[in-house]
Amino acid sequence: MRFKDIIGQKQTIKYLTEVVDNKKISHAYLLYGLSGTGKLALAIAFAQYLSCNNHIDNDSCGECPACIKFEKLIHPDLHFVFPVISASGKKPVSDSFIHQWRERILRDAYFSLNEWLEEIGSENKQGSIYSEESAEIIKKLNLKTFESDYKCMIIWLPEKMNVSCANKLLKILEEPPEKTVFLLITDNREDVLPTVISRTQPLKVMGIDGVSLISALKKEFGEEQQNLAEICKLSRGSYLKAKNYIHASEETKYNFENFVEIMRLAYARNIGKSIEWATNISKIGREKQKSFLDYGLKFIRENFVYDYNNQEISYMLKLEKEFAQKFSPFINEKNTELITEEFEKAHYHIERNANAKILFTDLSFKIMKLIR
Ligand SMILES: [Zn+2]
Repeated sequence: MRFKDIIGQKQTIKYLTEVVDNKKISHAYLLYGLSGTGKLALAIAFAQYLSCNNHIDNDSCGECPACIKFEKLIHPDLHFVFPVISASGKKPVSDSFIHQWRERILRDAYFSLNEWLEEIGSENKQGSIYSEESAEIIKKLNLKTFESDYKCMIIWLPEKMNVSCANKLLKILEEPPEKTVFLLITDNREDVLPTVISRTQPLKVMGIDGVSLISALKKEFGEEQQNLAEICKLSRGSYLKAKNYIHASEETKYNFENFVEIMRLAYARNIGKSIEWATNISKIGREKQKSFLDYGLKFIRENFVYDYNNQEISYMLKLEKEFAQKFSPFINEKNTELITEEFEKAHYHIERNANAKILFTDLSFKIMKLIR
């Protein structure tokens, strides 16, 4: 990971390169700030810059033997600690999950704790840095460096460290072996133990600037992606949040299109196409079906309000608004409640594993009766 691979963060990068260039390296840093701003990527790029002996334009060269190992995250002087789960047959330490960890970062270094836990197959389990980890850390740092001048220990989310693990680390965090750098990364600084914080040099990582964020989103989602400026503002400089907004808006779009489709078919009393529609939606999976039904409920309510009240109070997207102008007259006092009931019933049965095809076919026929 080179500094040039990081989205924005020019100021922090400048600070980190100067620290190395001027040989004013502290033994422990705490990178803190909003999730999804690139703190983990910054820590790795910093560690690589420390190991690379061939700096070019204030960045690692990307070609020397150290860089080549860093690009695969397999440099022997680079160590990671991160929350894991206690799974059967595996020692609950980071090394047990290191292959998945490397793979996750190499795919995309901007991810949340939940995404990571999902990746390692945690079903509603809390991730933790267990007390077993402290012995591993101490052992690794007491080895001499293999290839670099420096050893780097990156600890992702030290707030997840259990107290006994943290206590065992206080001494080495205060006085690590020579040429060792701790890089602690937290999204919630207030949850990190004060005894840990006091042994580090804090470094606040701000939100990503708008220009860099928009250009990264365009690269990931394509030039035609809409509302990027708005998404950027909402996500407060977090690439992770921005990606989540885009995925959520794609889901809304899917739900909207299906809602429009089923209402049009109901209005036209097109039985054949309605069955086809039900067949298609029966294949998308229960979570998405529930999301569609939730959306339908919300949209019906909004259209009802749209018809009877000031049109400004309903918060709808442009597409939804255009459709609502034509559709809302068909949603009235008589049928709102009945249609709502049908959506609620469908939601209830989907949660209880009803046959989705029968259920959505039935729903479309009910709407046909209620829509005019
Ligand atoms: Zn290099």
